[in-house]
Amino acid sequence: MTLTKESAHALASKLAPKGLAFIDGKFATAADGATFDTINPATGQLITAVAHCGTADVDRAVKAARRSFDDGAWSRAAPEFRKEVMLRLADLVRTHREELAVLESIDSGKTVIDCLHEIGREVPTFFQWYGELADKSFGKVAPTGENALALIVKEPAGVVGLVLPWNFPLLMAAWKMAPALAAGCSVLVKPAEQTPLSVLRLAELAQEAGIPDGVLNVLPGLGETTGQAIGRHPDIDIVSFTGSTEVGGYFLRYAGESNLKVIGLEMGGKSPFIVLDDADLTDDLIEHAAMSAFWNGGQNCSANMRQLVDRSLADEFAHRVTVRAKAFRVGDPLDPATNIGAMVTAEHQTRVMGYIERGSAEGARLLTGGGSTGPGYFIEPAVFADMTPTMSIAREEIFGPVLGILPVAGMEMALRIARDTDYGLHATVFTRDIDRAIHMARRLPCGTVSVNGFSEGDVKTPFGGYKRSGSLARDNGTEAMDQYLQTKTIWFSTARPSAAR
Ligand code: NDP
Repeated sequence: MTLTKESAHALASKLAPKGLAFIDGKFATAADGATFDTINPATGQLITAVAHCGTADVDRAVKAARRSFDDGAWSRAAPEFRKEVMLRLADLVRTHREELAVLESIDSGKTVIDCLHEIGREVPTFFQWYGELADKSFGKVAPTGENALALIVKEPAGVVGLVLPWNFPLLMAAWKMAPALAAGCSVLVKPAEQTPLSVLRLAELAQEAGIPDGVLNVLPGLGETTGQAIGRHPDIDIVSFTGSTEVGGYFLRYAGESNLKVIGLEMGGKSPFIVLDDADLTDDLIEHAAMSAFWNGGQNCSANMRQLVDRSLADEFAHRVTVRAKAFRVGDPLDPATNIGAMVTAEHQTRVMGYIERGSAEGARLLTGGGSTGPGYFIEPAVFADMTPTMSIAREEIFGPVLGILPVAGMEMALRIARDTDYGLHATVFTRDIDRAIHMARRLPCGTVSVNGFSEGDVKTPFGGYKRSGSLARDNGTEAMDQYLQTKTIWFSTARPSAAR
């Protein structure tokens, strides 16, 4: 079946999302009965009330996770078993992709077409790839003399808290859950308060796939309560977090004030898109420039919002990006023809509109867009020319559809401005000169450098940030699984066997 606007709306009207926590294999209300509302950003209407997990619920989930970890039904199971369950989960997500995509679209304001791509293709790929890795990860034998045998083995690290953002709800869940589960850990997932519904449905599918009770728990709630309770819990071994730099800092503090749990951080960005003077301004380059900024309504940590374009190309680049920006269709996220849906909340819409006003007030030239419409939280993609490095729109993470073009005089100036930021998540460079491409890639302090195309990489390549964009932890690739494994040395002292035996 292929979704149409009508079929997506029909499917949305039939959904009955579960607004409950998922703890120890069962759906449950919060211990104190507390709830919070989840709103459809495209309409401003209530979807459902959702259980707001407090300290008691987090504690119950940690106990279930610890029990399941110690029982070994998952953590010490044959890796082939974990693989089979995760492959089943990948298949179940594929089978339910349209339901999940519509559910996520109404909860987040993301376009159903993006949700369908992420949930139909990328999410199952993550469960499949890490499931496959479960029985292909080997330890090492260290070089010793004949009087010893030294094994270096990897063991699941324990109970893991996964604290998620709202911009890619199910995809970020898969980025973190898949390697943690493949490693044999038991997990607690805290979805963002704006987007709990698709992850709760995923928990049901995971149970159907055969994940044992207690191994996967989903705790919806607010950051200051549920998130903080996870951050401070003394029996959680690792937290992996994606979100703002400010809250990432809180998790380091929570760990320092509790049990020194390991914290993996993936945070914000202010990534450059660099066009050197030898680049061809092809349609492909313009498409990458526009998509790097406006994909997911600009609500993307690696969005390339600082577009540093050589002066000789800047006017033509600005004209063509403007034409492309005008072609984006903004509106009903459930219409597969829509390119940009709603901002996630009314507050976020107001925040992004504030940046558009500041951009104009600080002297940048608005070439197109920047209007907002309702009753949902929509913003037309904005393109600014004549941005300078000190403007707020050039320095701060906006997390909305606001692209700024900053003309530069040569490669070294582009590099200097690109490096002058507290963030270090991503950069794109367009050049036809391989030596300049390598020079730029080596000198840009960020986790991913993308040459002659905007890309975040894929399941096989690590993703994370330098500076205030991240810790040394990485999502994706074999590096992600390493985050959830402990390293143990087993040293055998051996003696030459007696010949008589
Ligand atoms: P946050 O960093 O506030 O939220 C990320 C996660 O942390 C959510 O699950 C959130 O819960 C939780 N959280 C929030 N406050 C606390 C706390 N005090 N203790 C423990 N956990 C907490 O991001 P926002 O959603 O508020 O977005 C703000 C900005 O962050 C964006 O505009 C963007 O700049 C950046 N961001 C970056 C993302 C990225 O991919 N790197 C993703 C999302 C945002 P709750 O949902 O209840 O707030």
